[in-house]
Amino acid sequence: MSGIRPTGFLHLGNYFGALRNYVRMQDEYNCYFMVADLHSLTTHPDTKELKANVERVLSENIASGLDPDKVALYCQSHIRETTELYLYLNMMAYKGELEKTTTFKDKARQQPDNVNAGLLTYPVLQAADIILHKATLVPVGKDQEQHLEMARTFANRFNHRYGNVFPEPQAFNFGSELVKVPSLDGAGKMSKSENQYATIYLSDDDELIRKKVMKAKTDSGPTEPNTPKPDYITNIFGLMQLVSQPDVIRKFEEDYDQCRIRYGDMKKQLAEDMVTFITPIRRRADEIRNDGAYLKKVMEQGAEKASQSARATMAEVRQAIGLNYY
Ligand code: AMP
Repeated sequence: MSGIRPTGFLHLGNYFGALRNYVRMQDEYNCYFMVADLHSLTTHPDTKELKANVERVLSENIASGLDPDKVALYCQSHIRETTELYLYLNMMAYKGELEKTTTFKDKARQQPDNVNAGLLTYPVLQAADIILHKATLVPVGKDQEQHLEMARTFANRFNHRYGNVFPEPQAFNFGSELVKVPSLDGAGKMSKSENQYATIYLSDDDELIRKKVMKAKTDSGPTEPNTPKPDYITNIFGLMQLVSQPDVIRKFEEDYDQCRIRYGDMKKQLAEDMVTFITPIRRRADEIRNDGAYLKKVMEQGAEKASQSARATMAEVRQAIGLNYY
């Protein structure tokens, strides 16, 4: 189980941190993937763009290879049981632990005029989304590690207080470690809202991708063989690992070690490999986004699958809590 907020355009971080794993999991596991529209209200209370953003996220999920016939692909707000479970879990989540969450502190700093209770209880809603389907594996990027730990805490607390209902969810990635896709300016991670020029979006056209990559920070190159790489150069190699062929990467690694690297050439190569990777996804997502009837069908079908699992879990939850008077 996993989700992505409809707060803007999806980017390479979303793709390599989350979507790529969704696509690989769909053939092996029973999967629930959602557009986290309720979560987006904590930071984006203006809903003028919401419908368009929900449709964009759905289209980009499908264009990246997710098959709505294999998984439950749905909108969070269509599953009302989520908000009921969120309420019960809120009674077990403490103000102190929520205030300590890194994402809460970041967001409170970013929007000091709107430090709403939803922002504080964001990890509780996320835990509800996950354990509602008794999910055990949660494909997410590295930035979500702390939230997953909290989801485990809430699941265990519920089990301890009311009896064993929920398994422990774990963050999941097909590689050995969770992924963090760095931003092109070497400062922080690619993100939907910050650093738009340092983030590559799945919707960027070829020219824009080239422009962004060519602006990535470099220097005049190492002067001694086998010099350790500065962070911003490690980032460029890291991005290459995501989209370029192994022999291409090897060549630039050798050039670096032998002090003959030309960063201009390296960035040109990276830009072309990114264009090759993103163009088919962008084209397919555009086609899907223009097919409103298909998207409606996807959402209905997804909600039906997710509701079945949600209803079954909530019957158990109410029973366990003792909300069964007749
Ligand atoms: P969000 O965009 O915050 O709704 O996140 C959706 C998913 O994308 C989550 O699983 C995040 O962990 C993942 N994600 C977002 N940004 C990055 C990034 N720069 N690197 C890796 N994963 C990311």
